[in-house]
Formats: sequence, C-alpha cells, structure tokens
Amino acid sequence: MKVLKFGGTSVGSSNSIKNVKSIIQSIDGQKIIVLSAMSGVTNLLVEISDNIHLGNQTDLIRLEESLKNKHLELVETLIPQSEIRSVVLQGLEKLFAEFHLLIHGEFSENSANQILIFGETLSTYIFNEYLRSCNIASILLNAKKFMFVGNLENPDTAKINQHLQPFLKNISEDAIYITQGFVRIDKFNRISTLKRGGSDYTATIIGAAIDAEEVQIWTDIDGFHNNDPRYVANTHPLSNLSFEEAAELAYFGAKILHPQTISPVIEKHIPIYLKNTFTPELHGTKISSEIHSKGLKAISAKDGITAIKIKSNRMLMAHGFLKKIFEIFDFHETAIDMITTSEIAISLTIDDTKNLDLILNDLEEFGEITVEMEHSIICIVGEGLIEDANTYKLFEILNEIPVRMISYGGSLNNVSILVASENKVFALKALHQKLFSSKPVAIGLKF
Ligand code: ASP
Ligand code: MG
Repeated sequence: MKVLKFGGTSVGSSNSIKNVKSIIQSIDGQKIIVLSAMSGVTNLLVEISDNIHLGNQTDLIRLEESLKNKHLELVETLIPQSEIRSVVLQGLEKLFAEFHLLIHGEFSENSANQILIFGETLSTYIFNEYLRSCNIASILLNAKKFMFVGNLENPDTAKINQHLQPFLKNISEDAIYITQGFVRIDKFNRISTLKRGGSDYTATIIGAAIDAEEVQIWTDIDGFHNNDPRYVANTHPLSNLSFEEAAELAYFGAKILHPQTISPVIEKHIPIYLKNTFTPELHGTKISSEIHSKGLKAISAKDGITAIKIKSNRMLMAHGFLKKIFEIFDFHETAIDMITTSEIAISLTIDDTKNLDLILNDLEEFGEITVEMEHSIICIVGEGLIEDANTYKLFEILNEIPVRMISYGGSLNNVSILVASENKVFALKALHQKLFSSKPVAIGLKF
C-alpha cells in the first residue's frame, strides 16, 4: 500500500484535480490518498472562526457565502454529467447545512476546531465523487474514525492502525481510499488538528501505521531545494536526502514540509517522495535512510526566533547550573533550539514565546537576562558536512554580518547560525555564493 498526499494547490482548481486523477491512475497498487483543503480555504475558515468570536455577523455571512460558492463552482466545472452533478450538489448542500448550524451555534474551542477541518471534509467529498463520476470505485474514509493522535509529538501508530484496518476491506489490487489530512482526535476524544500544514504529517502517520511501501507528498514545488528559492537565485532541487537532513531542513524553515512529517516513518525506513503535481515527470526529492552523498547540501532559515542570554557569576565553575535553567524551560513546555555557553553566560533560542514572560520571571533569580527578538536561525545541512572541504567558508560570513550565535559540532550534519532577521536574506545569499557557487552542480563530496 502507498500513501499519496496532495496539497492545497493540487486540489485548488478543476484542472489541477484532473491532474491529480491522472497521477493517481499512473501509480500501481493499493493507495490511500490524503487531501488538504483547497488552497486558501483553511485561511478562510480561520477568518470565519475569528468573526464568530468577534460577533461580526455581516462578515460571517459573506465568508460563508464565498466558501460555498468556491466549492459549488468547482463541482460545476468538474462534473459535466448533469444527473450525477445534481446528486453531488445535494450532498454538498447537506454538508453546508451542517456547517451553517456549526457556525451559528455556540462557539467554543471545540467548535473552532470543527470549523477548521471543514475544508478537508469538502475537498475529499468532492474528489471522491469526481472519481466515482469517472467510474473509479474510490472509497471515502472518515479520518475522525481512526486518526487518534493523543500525543501530537509521538503518535501511537499501532492504535491508528487498529482503528484503520477494519475500513481497508477492499481487496482489489488497485483500491483507492481517500481521506482527510489535518484532522485528529485528541486524547480527550475531541476533534482537533495536526496544526497548520499538518496534512503532510497525516500522510506519514498513516504511512507508519499501515507499514506503507512509501509515502508520496505532492505539492507545487519540485522537491527540497539547496536554498530558499524565494530569496536566492539559482537554487536547485535535491534528488536525495537522508531522513536526518530532511528533518533538519523541515524543522529549520524549509516551508515545503510540515516540520514533524519525517519522524513517524524513520524507524520503519519508509521512504518519502516529494513530487510536483504540475510537473510529475520530474524526479523531485527522495527522503530515505540511504545516504547518497556526503558533505554540504542545503541551507534553510527559520524566522521568529528569540534569543535569551543569562549572565551569572554563579555559573563560574559551578555544576548543575544548566540543569536548573533547562528545568525552567521544561516546566513552561518551551523547546530550546540553539544553545551556546561561555564560562559565565549561556545564550539559547526559542521560537515559541507564549510563556516568555513566565520564563523570564523564573530566570531572573539566576542572573542578568537579555532578550533579543526577531532573529532567524540559518541552518546548513548535509551528512558529514563538518568533514566537507568547503565548510570552513561558511565562517567567512562573520566578516560580513553580525552573527549572534553559532552552533557547530552538535552533530556532524548541521551548523546553525543565528542572525538578526533583517540580515537573513543577505546571509542566505552570501552563504549560497560561498558554499555552492564555485561548484554549481553536485556539491556533496563523494566519500
Ligand atoms: N488545510 C490545512 C492548512 O492549510 C492543512 C494542510 O493543508 O496541510 O493548514
Ligand atoms: Mg503544506
């Protein structure tokens, strides 16, 4: 069985949906198709939920109307047979009637989550009906019946498999199942989400649960690039990445994948293929446990980083100091990304500032605290990159912009640099030039 996930732009118009259909038909074997909402729809749902919160009826009615029209128009263009179409439209009306009750009922965190996942309910319903109208006997699976993800960081894939298997009864060699990305049932059995962009994560969670042969993630980009193409010219897609390299890049800002996507499949060595729906003939990126080449491979950047410095003479020659500091972050459920220390100070970074005030309050007793917001972590990745003959050149960046922190040697595969966000684009370009420009094609050293 294969798991194929298609993102918002892949299901964003009738033409792209037709494209998705031919991609699916070109792939042999049984498959589970995970779909996102049509592009822009989850943002619209966030807006709907915000307007309910504000009690803004006029905007609410307008947004509900525009959500409805978007999907009605899609069905109009996608299904030409008028009899089939009118049945599909009736089904759609029914879904919208339920949605209407939901958004005009009592508002709570629970109903907000139900609103948020409605885009995936719509896209999967329409896609399934479209395939059936083309005489493809697809089966729609309700993710709410099996995506039991109590622990967002560490889903119990065995439990998911147990709930999913009873629905996978079709023995046809090329059975097609369709289900909603993004949705999860939390540990209190409430409907919730896998966070924005979480449909990628749905795909690998399902992939690990059913021991899939592979997971394919279809987007509108031709794979992971060696630098951020939004800011840097002459980037190129990477045909192979190890799980570790891809996990670092996804976490440190490469927008192509939800940061947690890689983790469920690592242990089972299930490869992930990143492919472009609009240029399916291109190779894309294969992420697997294979290591194809060593050395410098890619650069990415993550914004919204806050640096915290704790300076204390009590740290001098004392043991247990770091433990106490880390306990504070642990207590406030805040992950630390980068750390550097000197004999009397420690600097670290966080990206989640929800509990920053509480953290600072607790840190105060340990010394003098400095906080700097609006920083970016630039992450340079590649298996064994520390041994690459070109790596030293990244330190030339120190001549060109102020660097707040550097983390080198934490692993052999990653160097992270912290800069003020206003210098990020310059740093990405300069690093690209230094590390990749002399050898424009294969940068990885062959060992
Ligand atoms: N539709 C959701 C979002 O826009 C989930 C996803 O597309 O991955 O965040
Ligand atoms: Mg996405």
